[in-house]
Amino acid sequence: MLSKEEFEALAERVFSFHTKRAPGIYIGVAMVDLARDVLGPVKGKLNAIAETQACLSDVIQIMTGCTVGNRYLRVMPALGRYALTLFDREDGRGVRVWADPAKIDAGKTPEMYNFFHRTRDADVEKGGSARELSCIKIIEEFRIVGRSILDSQKVFVINHGKPPMLPAVVCPSCGETYLQRCEMHKQCDFCSGENVYFKAQCW
Ligand SMILES: [Zn+2]
Repeated sequence: MLSKEEFEALAERVFSFHTKRAPGIYIGVAMVDLARDVLGPVKGKLNAIAETQACLSDVIQIMTGCTVGNRYLRVMPALGRYALTLFDREDGRGVRVWADPAKIDAGKTPEMYNFFHRTRDADVEKGGSARELSCIKIIEEFRIVGRSILDSQKVFVINHGKPPMLPAVVCPSCGETYLQRCEMHKQCDFCSGENVYFKAQCW
């Protein structure tokens, strides 16, 4: 378990990487810390899964070195749960940690309750000082309750091994290389229209 000083220093590092003081980061540091404590040493590479795209993924990247770029971190935004799993890539042994709404008391920690239920004041959503104050309040509330609002479970991650290296082939339509998923995947997803995120337009 991180010491109080280590915890605060790490939270500051993630705030700066994230470029915003988001309260979820502070809670996320405790989540990664708990997951690591329960998991213990790993035989292979430590890998991670974030079940939301929100700040948790940045906490994981700073605290564990599992990044999107080195592919040790997988983000599953469609799940949308405030949860993460750290696991051993060699055997799939993992620990999932999440914030348990049943343990977040609306009376004792009202701002944190509203944060997790997305019911903070409309002012907070606008940003500015209301948002900063809300963040400070949530951190203060979390300092009182700490890990007690978190839950953990031991799991085995399915498909825990190293992801396959797909072959890079030249797309007959655009002439760029793309990663080919299977023999039937004859052109890149942009040219097939499956995954178009921009329109070519001079500006
Ligand atoms: Zn193409």
